[in-house]
Amino acid sequence: MVGIFKNLLVHFRTWIKFLIILAIGLGIIFFIVFSVYKPMYAVTVEGKFIGYTADKSEMQKKISEYMKSGEKTSNIAFVDIEVLPEYSFCLLKKDYKSDDEEIFNKIIDKGVTYYKYYAILVNSEEKCYVSTYQECESIIQGLKDKDSQNKDQVGYVVKYETDLKEFTNTETAISNLYVEKPKPVVVPKKSSTSGGKLATSAKVNYSAVSLGISLINPVQGRLTSRFGERSNIRSSVHTGLDIATSVGTPIRAAASGTVVFSGWKGAYGQMIAIDHGNGVQTYYCHCSALYKSVGQYVNQGEIISAVGRTGNVTGPHLHLEVRVNGVAYNPDYYVY
Ligand SMILES: [Zn+2]
Repeated sequence: MVGIFKNLLVHFRTWIKFLIILAIGLGIIFFIVFSVYKPMYAVTVEGKFIGYTADKSEMQKKISEYMKSGEKTSNIAFVDIEVLPEYSFCLLKKDYKSDDEEIFNKIIDKGVTYYKYYAILVNSEEKCYVSTYQECESIIQGLKDKDSQNKDQVGYVVKYETDLKEFTNTETAISNLYVEKPKPVVVPKKSSTSGGKLATSAKVNYSAVSLGISLINPVQGRLTSRFGERSNIRSSVHTGLDIATSVGTPIRAAASGTVVFSGWKGAYGQMIAIDHGNGVQTYYCHCSALYKSVGQYVNQGEIISAVGRTGNVTGPHLHLEVRVNGVAYNPDYYVY
């Protein structure tokens, strides 16, 4: 019994000795290895080796910061690096010089930079680009202050794109986007015989005269009676042009001007007269509805009334007259 125990003790001592020698041996080996080598990480991107770095976590931190904000250059929103590098542990000789900057540059070379900017929109169309929200506000406010005609159609949108647009400064953007409102025509009070009032004489002139403005067709329809014609429903010559179409069809101003008559006028029924300045007026007669009143400024093409059959008529139509200083001219020279 004692013999077995003694025997075990001897074996135990032998084992302890062996382990001590082994530990010292390993220690010497490690000492030799680490006095010659140092731990490093081999960096690969898509399996392609790009270099060694000693500080893996510092490299990862640098890359993630770069992806968030680029190099802090203005308007870089973020950088998209599709494939991130992989790191594998290795030992390299102590005198090996690693170049983290070079590795970093190789990684970010594969990145796509996205820029953030603001597009100024007019009617949803991109007109120019600025770099800050404040500039957007200044441009929109600037157009409001100048009472630009398009002030209610101006907006902006934030964009992230890979190409950086050329920026426009606030002042230039405002002056480029500004649209002047049409100025009301000033009707000369006593410069013409019509003088802003309705001329009611049936005087006609068969020759053409320059109006100094161009007219558009107030309605589409069938021409049923020409200027100068005589008929049994009226006592004098026809002072206008008749365009037949259905009741309620919108009638548009042939040119911009100021309404000088809007109401009932004998055989003309419900009519509107527009003064275009310089003695030029247009009449729209037999209307079923009048949408404008005396003194209102109307733009060319604006709806002013509706076709009807009021006054001396046999069917619904627009009776259109062109008057210059009270004299009726043939509308055929200017419209249809
Ligand atoms: Zn007529």
